[in-house]
Amino acid sequence: MQSYDCLIDGRDVPAADGRTFEIVCPSDGKPFAAAARGGKAEVDAAVAAARRALETGDYGRMTPTERGRVLSRMAEAVRDRHAELTALEAMDCGKPTKQAATDINCLARYLEFYGAAADKVHGLQIPFLNDWLVTGIREPHGVTAHIIPWNYPAQIFGRSVGAAIAMGNACVLKPAEDAGLTCLEVAKLALDCGLPAGGLNVVPGIGEEAGAALAHHPDIDFISFTGSPEVGTLIQKAAAERTIGCTLELGGKSAQVVFADADLDHALPIITNAIIQNAGQTCSAGSRVLIESSVFDAVTARLAERFADLRVGTHAMDLDLGPLINRQQHERVARFVERASDLELLAEGRLAGDLPAAGFYATPRLYGPVSPDHYLAQEEVFGPVLVAIPFNDEADAVRIANGTAYGLVAGVWTKDGARQLRVARRLKAGQVYVNGYGAGGGIELPFGGVKRSGHGREKGFEALYEFSQLKTIAIHHG
Ligand code: ADP
Repeated sequence: MQSYDCLIDGRDVPAADGRTFEIVCPSDGKPFAAAARGGKAEVDAAVAAARRALETGDYGRMTPTERGRVLSRMAEAVRDRHAELTALEAMDCGKPTKQAATDINCLARYLEFYGAAADKVHGLQIPFLNDWLVTGIREPHGVTAHIIPWNYPAQIFGRSVGAAIAMGNACVLKPAEDAGLTCLEVAKLALDCGLPAGGLNVVPGIGEEAGAALAHHPDIDFISFTGSPEVGTLIQKAAAERTIGCTLELGGKSAQVVFADADLDHALPIITNAIIQNAGQTCSAGSRVLIESSVFDAVTARLAERFADLRVGTHAMDLDLGPLINRQQHERVARFVERASDLELLAEGRLAGDLPAAGFYATPRLYGPVSPDHYLAQEEVFGPVLVAIPFNDEADAVRIANGTAYGLVAGVWTKDGARQLRVARRLKAGQVYVNGYGAGGGIELPFGGVKRSGHGREKGFEALYEFSQLKTIAIHHG
């Protein structure tokens, strides 16, 4: 069984107390690897290494162009090892191989994007009094903490670490205990691609141990967190204790709004995919479909046909959905489904035959009509459950779409151009798609939430601003 250490100061380091934890494949519930169970000692060492790299090491002396070249080389190295990283991501997360392959492509694209962007973030020159020159320069925060989840480890590594390194931060990453082995592999690749030791350190471990030690570390300058709203609140409190900044990318209950004039041939495959992708374990999953009443029955009938055709299998079977990540998540989704017995189940997909008994499988389900205030239309399931909600008119659609605690992504399906813009502007979400939907997609597109979905923006150029701050230098030249 392969064993993974922490990566600290460019070296493989086991946990000081020798502890490890098992990494289980969700497809069969069996351990297939082990990782060092990092804790406070490893986090302390990793943060100290990052600080040294930044202040006295080679990393801090690199030019933006040099850092960009390292990221670009990493993108190529990821592409060279695409098959191997795809197999690891699929096994670690239990996701169908085609999804894992997409995730590794996205990882390479993030590294490519941020590699190319590293020396293109210009500062400001601000008109002021005649005998002054005022300039604004973008500086890195310093040592950045990256606490990431198990649903898209490779992609989130790319978007978070890629942007942070582009801006010159030294990183300490804590992957999720359930899946994050690709992060360790790619961090090692970074060294081969010329990243000086300490520029990127990875401490695998448990959330309450390594995660909490990192979030509370007194020498961290910024935290980038993606995960649950509950832990996001803890992270924000930890950041507040030391008055440092954080970005929080938390959950969602994203709505897709389907008007009667929508092109259903185009919309329905995308609407279906937006909830089954990664077995619904996607922050930006389209977990509510709002349908204009006049076409509600016709649209749900067509969606139901699609749901009935969906198949769930192991990551290697590469069907429509893989298993859920772990037993806890499996039980959580099962509880949601049990509590939904008052709702009409319009369709359910099927499990493939001969699945390993200990795998964490859940069938995709479509419910409707569901009242907008039903708990299944309000709470994030993080599983393959879609609720169909009828609406009467545009105002009703916007009210329902905005009527949850979350606001991550939304979709609008209509051919009416004025309505596209009106609705897009009224929806409370960090990203709105019109006649399309990219659950987790679009590395170039700034992404993040409003309300309980979090704050701050990742992806695209905007992330470069998040991972830096503006210093104003005012020069009186007389
Ligand atoms: P999910 O529901 O996706 O598992 P979590 O919020 O539990 O989301 O986990 C996201 C990341 O946060 C993981 O890397 C996890 O280990 C970490 N984490 C969990 N609890 C804590 C905590 N108390 N402090 C810091 N990090 C934590």
